[in-house]
Amino acid sequence: MLGSMMKQPLLISDLIRHAARYHGDTEIVSRETTGEINVTRWAAVEDQARRLAAGLRKLGLSEGDRIATLAWNNHRHLKIWFAVSGAGMVCHTLNPRLFPEQLIFIANDAADKAIFFDRTFMPLVRATREQLRTVAHFIYMGGRDDEVASAIPGVIFFDDLVQDDPAEWPVLDEDTPCSLCYTSGTTGNPKGVLYSHRSTMIHTFAISLPDALSLSSRETILPVVPMFHANAWGIPYAAAMVGAKLVMPGPGLDGDSLLGLIDGQKVTLALGVPTIWQMLLAAAERSGSGMESLKRNVIGGSAAAPSMIATFRDKYDCETIHAWGMTETSPLGTANQVKGKHADLDADAMALLRLGQGRPPFGIDLRIVDDEGKVLPRDGSSQGALQVRGHWVVDTYFGMDRNALTDDGWFDTGDVATLDDDGYMVIRDRTKDIIKSGGEWISSVELENIAVSHPDIAMAAAIGARHEKWDERPIIVAVKAEGRNPSAEEILAYFEGKVAKWQIPDAVVFTDAIPLSGTGKMLKNKLRDQFGGILAERGT
Ligand code: AMP
Repeated sequence: MLGSMMKQPLLISDLIRHAARYHGDTEIVSRETTGEINVTRWAAVEDQARRLAAGLRKLGLSEGDRIATLAWNNHRHLKIWFAVSGAGMVCHTLNPRLFPEQLIFIANDAADKAIFFDRTFMPLVRATREQLRTVAHFIYMGGRDDEVASAIPGVIFFDDLVQDDPAEWPVLDEDTPCSLCYTSGTTGNPKGVLYSHRSTMIHTFAISLPDALSLSSRETILPVVPMFHANAWGIPYAAAMVGAKLVMPGPGLDGDSLLGLIDGQKVTLALGVPTIWQMLLAAAERSGSGMESLKRNVIGGSAAAPSMIATFRDKYDCETIHAWGMTETSPLGTANQVKGKHADLDADAMALLRLGQGRPPFGIDLRIVDDEGKVLPRDGSSQGALQVRGHWVVDTYFGMDRNALTDDGWFDTGDVATLDDDGYMVIRDRTKDIIKSGGEWISSVELENIAVSHPDIAMAAAIGARHEKWDERPIIVAVKAEGRNPSAEEILAYFEGKVAKWQIPDAVVFTDAIPLSGTGKMLKNKLRDQFGGILAERGT
């Protein structure tokens, strides 16, 4: 016997239909590439998405075709997302911060048939277009423009592609792919993760829950995290589901521009990687803004430093939700919301609890395993390789024959973590970044958190430097805070009493800037190439 309830496929077109019908007048505010502010509403987003879907069909594009974007977070990008996925095509967000060769590889691997691009990326399109083997249509995200027309012969203008007759949303199988995103691939070629309507919809429900990101129609949400970085952590979909107001920052990712949007639009929740918050805090400090509207921020993508969480809490009365995820997990895996039984913890215990990456929502299961694959206890202290499974976790990378899972069906994240029996997870490191000193593991994240809590340090990476006796010893590569000039000895002394003696770094080297990946992560492999030999050279 089967249940006898209505069966409707879980489709992204239903999200935008819902937003248009029940939250039609809620605003979507975005910064254009020209810097102007555009204001539209959910009803208009759906209407334009349907007209755009009709335009894509008119170009001969059909279900399953990959349609790429090279774009900032803005209203046209939002319309493209819903038009492409709603019409049964696959929206492929390209990361414009990648090297052109990587971009070419990814677009060819995905066999993209069309590319939408913002004006900022016109030079990139011009430089790479000859090598994009499958792309037949280049679509400029704007109205007619002579400069663009002469730079990209045959270019189509977004505003011309929007048809008079809107398309009807097709009823698709919920397992139809809706979007594609490539991992950042710091080693080896990037790999594509192909999300389905079903996985995306279940992820959208889950991240909106109170114990995850706690989203509702009462929020004004600023996704600083780009739509090309793991789907802006699912926010555009979730905002449509709950009917929240969205504020899209366009190209203005500097502290002053973000602060202007937060104060001007009364943003209540903002999401982004740690480097973004550093710039925002500096801008707020300069301007004296108290960011009164900002009640919560979500930090993910890299570990949030304790000092940063404390500044948001103590100075701006803003609650930080530390979250963890990956492109392969759609991306939300965990979010740090406190359980009822922990609500009355004292300030120090609470601060410690909130430092970690939090608990998985229903739909995600986590475990940690040792080198032999044996499952380790959830005791808060055993460290192991973090593995995950769930409704919105990758099974097989795009175009690969074999799945990406362990023999018993788990995905190995490449992170090293601890788990406790309440489900709180703490990322200790990336497997490849952990520092192995004389057979013992030292968490680079922990050393970095200490280094950046020193007022004279703006940014710091802890890496393993080669060592004759111990194989590796930790060293700190640091960027000095503006106007400060600490010595290496001062910084080393700062570690005393904060970690075990054998974990104190052997050296501190100062550099002007730490290289970052296209998604804001410190490129530690580059730092290891540059600084990994300094202990051997010094003969220490
Ligand atoms: P990506 O697929 O580019 O989003 O990268 C995913 C990786 O980012 C994870 O496997 C982690 O190594 C790292 N990451 C994401 N969120 C956090 C976090 N809150 N703390 C530490 N590392 C994180």
